[in-house]
Amino acid sequence: MIHQELKIIEKRYQAKITLLRILKFRVRLTREARRYQSRWINMQRNSEPEVDMEAKEERIPDLYPCYRDSEKLEFGCKHYKRNCKLVASCCNKSYTCRHCHDEATDHVMDRKATTMMICMKCLIIQPIGPTCSTVSCNSLSMARYYCSICKLFDDERQIYHCPHCDLCRIGEGLGIDFFHCMNCNACMSKSLSKHICREKCLEVDCPICHEYIFTSSTPLRALSCGHIMHSSCFDAYTSSNYTCPICCKSLGDMQVYFGMIDAMLAEETIPEEYVGQTQDILCNDFVVPTTPALSELDIIHLCD
Ligand SMILES: [Zn+2]
Ligand SMILES: [Zn+2]
Ligand SMILES: [Zn+2]
Ligand SMILES: [Zn+2]
Ligand SMILES: [Zn+2]
Ligand SMILES: [Zn+2]
Ligand SMILES: [Zn+2]
Ligand SMILES: [Zn+2]
Repeated sequence: MIHQELKIIEKRYQAKITLLRILKFRVRLTREARRYQSRWINMQRNSEPEVDMEAKEERIPDLYPCYRDSEKLEFGCKHYKRNCKLVASCCNKSYTCRHCHDEATDHVMDRKATTMMICMKCLIIQPIGPTCSTVSCNSLSMARYYCSICKLFDDERQIYHCPHCDLCRIGEGLGIDFFHCMNCNACMSKSLSKHICREKCLEVDCPICHEYIFTSSTPLRALSCGHIMHSSCFDAYTSSNYTCPICCKSLGDMQVYFGMIDAMLAEETIPEEYVGQTQDILCNDFVVPTTPALSELDIIHLCD
């Protein structure tokens, strides 16, 4: 009897142990499951936005076209009418033009280093060229003007590439409305009957805004002294100045103004102690008689 009872107790005890093991295992399982669950949630929380950000930065800008005129559905930007975007070699992002790139980033795009473009009609990235290479686009022209050196596309203006400047400039072309003066190392308008030839005259900064003149895309003006500044800088500067900021010569014909000063002086009576005395003065406008004078201020050229 005792032996049998003992066996029953033992069995019950073993069953309890098994039950306990199962319970312990269950607890461990739920704990593990919870741990895994929270880890997974955290993982989702951390990684999901990052993936999104990357997609936004890297892919989406390439995927939509930009319009110069969204109503007429003309591709381009505020700077150029063109059917393609450029992939900037510096940051591998796409922009409609180098000016758009320079405005959006903290660095300057090397226009000549561009090798890839995106056709805005089919949105396919491809080697840069005058037409789209996709079959569906059927050799669609990317712009009327394409320079394979400057990687410049433009559908609106007359542009030519000057091999001496090694830049694209606005105009019909060398020998048509512009000529390249080797001494000035600049493209000059043929409408200039004569220009004051100054060696490398464009390889300077604008005396007003300090932008490098040679590659500037703003219209320029030659002053009567031969110095050069932007037309817009000239307009702003001459609203309160009449002499060249570099050589101090008068910017225009000052005869009327000087005549006025002469008349005012003539009305003045000289104090007794100064009568008969003379004073040497330095005149900025004094020019060596052989220097040719440019009577009017002319626009020289425009870089792309
Ligand atoms: Zn860049
Ligand atoms: Zn642009
Ligand atoms: Zn295309
Ligand atoms: Zn060019
Ligand atoms: Zn030139
Ligand atoms: Zn010259
Ligand atoms: Zn300027
Ligand atoms: Zn000057």
